[in-house]
Amino acid sequence: MASEESKPASNFIRNIIQEDQEAAKWDGKVQTRFPPEPNGYLHIGHAKSICINFGLAAEFKGKCNLRFDDTNPTKEEQEYVQSIKADVRWLGFDWEDREYYASDYFDTLYEYAVHLIQEGKAYVDSLSAEAIREYRGTLTAPGKESPYRNRSTDENLDLFDRMRKGEFEPGTHVLRAKIDMASPNLNLRDPVLYRILFAEHHRTGKKWCIYPTYDFAHGQCDSIEKVTHSICTLEFEDHRPLYDWFLEALRIHHPQQIEFARLNLTRTVLSKRKLIQLVEEGYVTGWDDPRMPTLSGLRRRGYTPEAIRNFCERIGVARRDSTVDVAFLEYCVREDLNRISPRVMAVLRPLKVVIENYPEQQAEMLEAVNNPEDPGMGTRQVPFSREIYIERDDFMEDPPKKYFRLSPGREVRLRYAYFLTCVGVLKDKQTGEIVEVRCTYDPTTRGGDAPDCRKVKATLHWVSAPHAFEAEVRLYDYLLNDLPESEEGRDVSDFKSRINPASLSVLSTCKLEPGLSEAKPGSRYQFERMGYFFVDPIDSKPGKPVFNRIVTLRDTWAKIQKQSQG
Ligand code: ATP
Ligand code: MG
Repeated sequence: MASEESKPASNFIRNIIQEDQEAAKWDGKVQTRFPPEPNGYLHIGHAKSICINFGLAAEFKGKCNLRFDDTNPTKEEQEYVQSIKADVRWLGFDWEDREYYASDYFDTLYEYAVHLIQEGKAYVDSLSAEAIREYRGTLTAPGKESPYRNRSTDENLDLFDRMRKGEFEPGTHVLRAKIDMASPNLNLRDPVLYRILFAEHHRTGKKWCIYPTYDFAHGQCDSIEKVTHSICTLEFEDHRPLYDWFLEALRIHHPQQIEFARLNLTRTVLSKRKLIQLVEEGYVTGWDDPRMPTLSGLRRRGYTPEAIRNFCERIGVARRDSTVDVAFLEYCVREDLNRISPRVMAVLRPLKVVIENYPEQQAEMLEAVNNPEDPGMGTRQVPFSREIYIERDDFMEDPPKKYFRLSPGREVRLRYAYFLTCVGVLKDKQTGEIVEVRCTYDPTTRGGDAPDCRKVKATLHWVSAPHAFEAEVRLYDYLLNDLPESEEGRDVSDFKSRINPASLSVLSTCKLEPGLSEAKPGSRYQFERMGYFFVDPIDSKPGKPVFNRIVTLRDTWAKIQKQSQG
């Protein structure tokens, strides 16, 4: 873990563990787990949970297990298991040999269910799914007991055994806990423990045709793994009485469930159910599309694990729901990239400049600083010549008042090079579009400073035309348009109506300084004045890197903070 990550601020979960330690509860042990369901790729919300579970375990010299909650055989796939492991590892956490699966415990869970039947605490119900729903009641009306609720223990044991043997059709019987149909908490109105499902499971194959529900499996898995603090998101708060009920009824190791508020981000959907639609309906190229809020998407975009961990630490852990501005995530990655990224010059939308008083056929090497934040990163040589490219946006023929970049008669600085003055433009005869800018340079300003100390108001980046390396650069914008403030965090609208049709722009004729032809897949750069960029590890070929924009340089977060401080 990076050492510069500052000492964590406290939060209520850390305080609970601290108090438990002081009271020597759990024999002073801390055992947590991260329990993903392998039915999709992990997203930045999961990163929060991973950082809490693995982070707290590490801090208190405990352990964190990776446990796949694979109780639903119909939606789970091996691909997801692999991606989840890769993502947790990439984030910087290690479960060592503690890779567990709820399905590893199916035999024990079955025994637990039998035990509950023997104790008169579970029964086989033969109502239809529809009737069960109807009998359940509502928040305002109590439920109704099933006519099958008082079957004898022997009959229940026999039916449950035959359910397991595959004698019944799906939907004809379920196993339910016998708790309280009048409970104000709907989760306690005889919840279903097992249902019949003739589905092949990715690990247990055809061994089972009954599967435990999430509620029945989860707490018991925690117990089997001797988890001490079972940390989950707030939507499970209403399930806690049920979590406790099972463990008490079974008289087995009883972890403490603690809920925290899930991460919500502006302009982002964080739900596997929605993310899978983006993938399957072709709105993105895959789970790892750089516009996706998945860990694989962020990784491919160029985010660093350090930045994501830092973000997770700084947003804190609370019990109140809130929505974090996506600009804060960008702020965190920018902060990290500012430190580690070498600076280079790249012109994304090129406009040719001819320097009339620079000798034809001449070229010279100029020294450029690799990272002003880190002198240790040294300098490099970049070629300069009579023809260069500048950014189209850096020239205006007829500029408004506050435009200080290049325009006819105006002098500007070329970064690390010379002062440059515009003396004319060449236009396409048909379209009127400016195709070339004519300039002169001042040879006495080599390196970018005038001996007479005269000032210019703009410094432009540039690339020598004959030396330029042409490459494809992909600019990413938000996948979703903003939500009206009233809906923030709730997303009541259909999220697909918010899809931004311009979330990707591919620029294929960018002119880069020549050293970038050697850029290695997976490396990061700051393109001066343009943002941070990542060499796409999948689409880049040797000698033909493709660049993803990670984030712009514009710090919208700092602006938001300034505004809120008045
Ligand atoms: P999703 O809503 O994306 O489908 P999930 O809760 O169904 O997520 P799981 O695989 O069950 O996905 O999640 C594993 C763990 O990650 C759970 O403990 C869950 O509470 C936690 N988690 C999921 N989403 C978030 C989030 N947005 N913020 C914090 N923790 C989350
Ligand atoms: Mg879940």
